[in-house]
Amino acid sequence: MTIHQGIEISGLSHAVRGAEILAPTNLKLPAGRITALIGPNGAGKSTLSRLIARIEPPVTGRVLVNGLDVATTSTDRLARELAFLGQHSWLASRLRVRELVAFGRWPHCKGRPGPADRAAVDRALAEFGLLPIAGRFLDTLSGGQAQRAHLAMTAAQETPWLILDEPLNNLDLAHARALMAHLARLRDGGGSILVVLHDLNFAAGWADHVVAMKDGRIVAEGTPADVLTAPALSSLYETEICVGEHQGRPLVLHHL
Ligand code: ADP
Ligand code: MG
Repeated sequence: MTIHQGIEISGLSHAVRGAEILAPTNLKLPAGRITALIGPNGAGKSTLSRLIARIEPPVTGRVLVNGLDVATTSTDRLARELAFLGQHSWLASRLRVRELVAFGRWPHCKGRPGPADRAAVDRALAEFGLLPIAGRFLDTLSGGQAQRAHLAMTAAQETPWLILDEPLNNLDLAHARALMAHLARLRDGGGSILVVLHDLNFAAGWADHVVAMKDGRIVAEGTPADVLTAPALSSLYETEICVGEHQGRPLVLHHL
């Protein structure tokens, strides 16, 4: 691993029509780890992930992804380093599942898929349990099936970094667990992941590193045991939260 591995964010800030939604932020996200980004609605989690993935340019600051400055790296090059699935980035519906997943190969094959690209699509379809519905149109799928198809497209990109904004939306418990186990396998193979999670027990169970945001700022960072404590979470969410333990990890519960 070279010294440039990881994501380095410096002085990054954002505003919409003059209103600051991300205060100037410095942050290092470790390579080869699962980092969970948590925090209440409106904290700025999607904004931070979108700026890292260059979905929009920041007002100030810089993002380096494995040493590549996202402001100046070509789209093709960046798309081979980083795959992003946003909260609202679903594609048009008159597309079959396999065609959608094949879009993930575009940065590698430029529309001329070879055997390696077809194999990557098949791997992603299998990994997300989509082979039986690979020929279906997206607009015939359930919310969870469509979510898995978009995740498979992102996975087929086979990039060193994966950034997922609330990927557990619409997924049942088994598919949610399967996604986190998939991310853990990618991590064990050297992959790097940033994942926005609302269900704190998925962060507790699967993340190596947790970053907490509130009001456009990073307010805590560390291991799940460091960040997912009752006082810290109660203050973060302004709600009484209790933390127990399950299989050596924090177990987060709200007060009834
Ligand atoms: P999170 O993902 O943590 O819920 P977001 O990053 O989506 O938060 O949003 C952070 C804040 O910025 C919210 O208050 C949101 O309303 C505001 N915001 C985000 N995008 C826009 C926009 N295009 N116009 C106005 N406000 C925005
Ligand atoms: Mg969001």
